[in-house]
Formats: sequence, structure tokens, C-alpha cells
Amino acid sequence: MSIEIADIRRAQERIRPYVQPTPLRPSHALSERLNAKVFLKFENMTATGAFKLRGATNKLLNLSADQRERGVITVSSGNHGRAVAYIAKALGVRAVVCMTEIVPPEKVAGLRDFGAEVVIHGQNQDEADAEARRIAERDGLLFISPFDDADVIAGQGTIGLELLEVAPQLDTVLVQLSGGGLMSGIAKALKSLKPEIEVIGISSLYGAAMLESIRAGKIVSVEEKPSIADALPGPIPPDNRYTFSMCRELVDDHIQVSDEQIAQAMAFILHNEKCVVEGGGAAGVAALLNNADRFKGKNVAAILTGDNIKVERALSIIAKAQSKPA
Ligand SMILES: *Cc1c(COP(=O)(O)O)cnc(C)c1O
Repeated sequence: MSIEIADIRRAQERIRPYVQPTPLRPSHALSERLNAKVFLKFENMTATGAFKLRGATNKLLNLSADQRERGVITVSSGNHGRAVAYIAKALGVRAVVCMTEIVPPEKVAGLRDFGAEVVIHGQNQDEADAEARRIAERDGLLFISPFDDADVIAGQGTIGLELLEVAPQLDTVLVQLSGGGLMSGIAKALKSLKPEIEVIGISSLYGAAMLESIRAGKIVSVEEKPSIADALPGPIPPDNRYTFSMCRELVDDHIQVSDEQIAQAMAFILHNEKCVVEGGGAAGVAALLNNADRFKGKNVAAILTGDNIKVERALSIIAKAQSKPA
């Protein structure tokens, strides 16, 4: 039960008709600031605005005829739910997305627009999760984890292949770390093709469950606090099969970033790359901006992982960040 580079290559072939490669561009502003050669990977430019489309597409294309017929279910208010809804609609597969009662109405509307059936249940993620598993059982739907799934991980790993196809000279890659699906896939691809490459996990200062679990040597739960990077904090269920062991084995180092650093990175990205990204999407750039010395002279890539944020909210975060000195 392990994921190999061959699985990631097969994922790349499989998803190609549905998910276009994203741009990898040198960032002049970051390269100047760090005295390094910095590249940004624009995963905010997929059809659903985040990399999660890669894993969800690989998963759905890999279903058996029977599973396709019955449909799928997941829990997510964010990018995974959007990705599953979008690709399920494209493939004509029934998709149900469970969300808690605290999710804002525009997120529910966004998912329904993508064609998903939305079930609102419970006050927190655990209750919505339990409801999704109950419905899966009752209706014979396949439950899709946002990160701890071999097909999802292989799909996210296609980013690693694209990075080295365009910039084989990379020596350091920064990858946001939450449940670890993104990191597991990318790190597996990178280390298989270029073992000496350094892979650094970027976590929020708060609720960094994977990082705390790696430090503890076992899966631990951490206190959840609201963060402007709402894609980053989140629990790791104790029955984890893949991502904990893969991250433990493959990640060389870790950097944590604060909400304030993320807000400043969102401002930097808007001014210099002319993109609005969500908090989680800006975390890699936040790590670069606040650890400039460490990356001096390196060929380094960071990933803009997603843009699932209302523009008004992003602009207000950016305006507040700019009223404080950097
Ligand atoms: C899901 C997500 C992440 C983290 O990915 P994991 O596979 O859970 O580690 C980071 N950024 C964004 C925008 C995401 O949607």
C-alpha cells in the first residue's frame, strides 16, 4: 500500500484531458527580494481555482463502472468539495457534498452551481463528517477523503512532475502542509526524480496537526483556532493510511507562518503578481518573505495553491496588512 512515481505518471496521463498544466513563472519581485531565483506555480489557475482538481479528477477517473453508477460523497466547504463537484458534473457522476451549518451561504451556492447536492449538517467538521459517512453507507456512495487517498495523492503529485519538467534546476520546493495530500504527492514525485532536492513543509502557526504529529512521532490532535488561511488548519483522523508516514519520511524541514505574515504575502502577491489568492495560497510566499537569508542563491519554487476567497474579504485583509509596516 504505497504510492510510487509510476502512479503519479499514470495520474498525469489520466487527468491530461481534464486538467491543464498550470504556469510556472519566475517571480522578478521575489527573486530580487531574496537574492535567489524564485519561481511561482499558479495552481489558482485551474478550472476550480485550486490544485485539488488534480486529485479529485484522478480519483473519479479511477472509479469502477459500479462506483461511477452509484456516485460519490465528501465533506468540504472548500477546494476539495468544489473540485469533486466540478469533475463529477463533467463526468456525469452523482456528487454529494456535506457541510456544517456554519458555512457561509455563498459557498453553498458556489457548490450547487457546480452541480453538487449539498447536505448541511452539524455544528462542526466532525459532525458533518459523521453524517457523510452515514449517507455513504445508506446510499452506497463512495466516500472520498480530501487528502488520505492514494488516487488523490497521486493526482496532486502531478504538480511535482510539472515543476521539474519546466525547471529541472530547482533545488528547493516549498509546499503547504495541512492534511498532507499535496505534500505527499509532490514530495514523492520530486524525491523520486531528484533525490537531493530539499522539500520544505509550510504550516500555519495555529492548528498545525501534521507538523505536531510528525514532531510527536504519532498522530495527535491540536487545538483549532480560526485563521485567515482556512485551508491550512484541520484535524488528521487517527485512521490515517498514507499522508502521515509519507510526510514523515519525505519532508526535509518545516516553516510556520502567522496570519499577519500571510496577510502581507497576499498584499505582495496582489501588487507583484497581480493575483488575488486565499490565505492558504499565500503561505509559501509568506515563508519566503520572512526567511529571505535562508534561500539566498537558491533555485526555489513556491505554490499559489488556491484562490477560494471572496474578493471583498481578500481586499479588506490586504488593506489591513498595508496599514501596518512590513
Ligand atoms: C487543501 C489545500 C491545502 C493543503 O493541502 P493538503 O493536501 O490538505 O495538505 C493548501 N492550500 C489550499 C488552497 C488548499 O485548498
